[in-house]
Amino acid sequence: MIRITLPDKSVKEFPEPITGYEIAKSISNGLAKAVLSVSVNGEVWDLTRKITNDASIKLYTWEDREGKETFWHSSAHLMAEAIEFYYPGTKFGIGPTVDTGFYYDVDLPDGKQLSEKDMQKIEQKMLELARQKNDIVRSEISKSDAMKMFIEKDDELKQELISELEDGTITLYNQGNFTDLCRGPHLPNAEYIKAVKLTSIAGAYWRGDEHNKMLTRVYGVTFPKQKLLDEYLVMLEEAKKRDHRKIGKEMELFTFSEMVGQGLPLWLPKGTQLRMQLEDFLKKVQKKYGYEQVMTPHIGSVQMYKTSGHYEKYGKDSFQPISTPAEGEEYLLKPMNCPHHIEIYKWKPKSYKDLPVRMAEFGTVYRYEQSGELHGLTRVRSFTQDDAHIFCRPDQLKDEFKKVIDIIFIIFKALDFENYTAQISLRDPDNPEKYIGSKENWDKAEQAIIEACEEKGLNTVTELGEAAFYGPKLDFMIKDALGRNWQLGTIQVDYNLPERFKLEYIGADDNRHRPVMIHRAPFGSMERFVAVLIEHTAGKFPLWLTPEQAVVLPISEKYNDYAKKVSNFLNISDIRSVIDDRNEKIGRKIRDNELKRIPYLLIVGEKEAETETVSVRRQGEGDRGIMSTGEFADFVLKEVRDQLSGLYN
Ligand SMILES: [Zn+2]
Ligand SMILES: [Zn+2]
Repeated sequence: MIRITLPDKSVKEFPEPITGYEIAKSISNGLAKAVLSVSVNGEVWDLTRKITNDASIKLYTWEDREGKETFWHSSAHLMAEAIEFYYPGTKFGIGPTVDTGFYYDVDLPDGKQLSEKDMQKIEQKMLELARQKNDIVRSEISKSDAMKMFIEKDDELKQELISELEDGTITLYNQGNFTDLCRGPHLPNAEYIKAVKLTSIAGAYWRGDEHNKMLTRVYGVTFPKQKLLDEYLVMLEEAKKRDHRKIGKEMELFTFSEMVGQGLPLWLPKGTQLRMQLEDFLKKVQKKYGYEQVMTPHIGSVQMYKTSGHYEKYGKDSFQPISTPAEGEEYLLKPMNCPHHIEIYKWKPKSYKDLPVRMAEFGTVYRYEQSGELHGLTRVRSFTQDDAHIFCRPDQLKDEFKKVIDIIFIIFKALDFENYTAQISLRDPDNPEKYIGSKENWDKAEQAIIEACEEKGLNTVTELGEAAFYGPKLDFMIKDALGRNWQLGTIQVDYNLPERFKLEYIGADDNRHRPVMIHRAPFGSMERFVAVLIEHTAGKFPLWLTPEQAVVLPISEKYNDYAKKVSNFLNISDIRSVIDDRNEKIGRKIRDNELKRIPYLLIVGEKEAETETVSVRRQGEGDRGIMSTGEFADFVLKEVRDQLSGLYN
């Protein structure tokens, strides 16, 4: 009897060894059709591999990352089969999956370069091979036989890989005429693959070493339905249009300068306006929740970062210390704000009645990133965290977590992120020695996070073993308008820094106790958050936030004075407005300002000047008719009030 435990802890018994596919089938035909791979005691297996002992299993479909990985890695084999068909003698390096899709590093014969046409040819062949419905078959092979096989094939890349493997662990996968050295897992059959797109080619050194041969890396993505590929291609097109670097330029939000240095964003006036608006918003929310703002310098002594442990983590590969010329003191650009805040906590003794202390700062930090890793505002070397540290008693942890979750909900609501999930990261139960802090405190903290999430009705997944060594945490992920996932803010419990800095408070029992520290940054960083927000909204920010809410467009120069009067009136009414008084046709002005994503376009000519009115156009929606300037101001202020109503007052 084989006992199979399912994720819901229910147990199914089978009289003899059984495959993942058969288990799925015993549950439902629909599941059998959808399932792609199976995890057996935590290891992902082929659906067709016999499970011979009692096991805990989980079935993966396209909805699971593991299912997609099985699908895409099998697609890499299918692509290799197609490439070998057209270019016999090709040597195959490695073919792993990436976030979306897969690649294979190949060494094509006779220095062959793949053209756009070749790529299409390979795509077609892949589909043709998939339609042959060849089973993908796993077999075990001895090291010497594997070596022999790839010597015969004259593939020294695979020979090198085999030489590093242990005998008895080597497996091959075959489909049709193609056999690859591979650990798996794979789909049962190539016919699962219904839609194929080879997305790009790049050069890649064998094993990432520049002393080695340059191979061709062919990227692709595949789907179990044509419709999914079509949607994906539309999404890619849309993502290109929404690239925050492109929109950032069009809206004049930020720039980079080689003279200043790589990865160091410069916020232009409009971007600064946007950022200040976000910061003011968060400051108001935080004030409501009892936070106090602090300010700290951009550098701190090396000694402090040695005490905190950050020197060990960020010191070696980071920016080098700054030394004072006369005293030889050493400072680091700050990689984290925490130690500075800790020293603020310590400036005066605390009693249990003083806690929690909630300290917030938009703190700019500096972390070295390799130049090749830099990307727009999402990977930079200087960024500002919407940071805060909460110092509390262990019994206050749950309440504090709930309050931070509230703040994050408010932010998501104000910015129209409707689709979010959170991951609770807990200890690895098998390795308790990995973690600092008492078991009792950990138990309490984990329980507090789980309960806080439950009580707030948050949609969560729980991952064992994903906690930091110094405490459990909660991470927020949002799905943007294109369905892409972004990791944003974190709430992290920390037992380590209070210990290292010997933080204390005097308890009701008159004894000294150690406070718990919570690090939290709902946006993560202003830079990354603005990038995500741009791509989510395509630059069409909510009215309360957008840097310029209205632009006045005089029909001709004759009405520039009236336009100025309107704009001045709006500005003193707390509406951010500008004028476009260039000597251009009105149609051109409308187009240019729509590109800047200014929500309201106010057209003024003779009739408007005479009657003290404006002709209102709403970006992307068209005409809103004529209003008096005062009516328009009230209208905008009401829209802003409605967007923010109840969020922080
Ligand atoms: Zn493989
Ligand atoms: Zn921190």
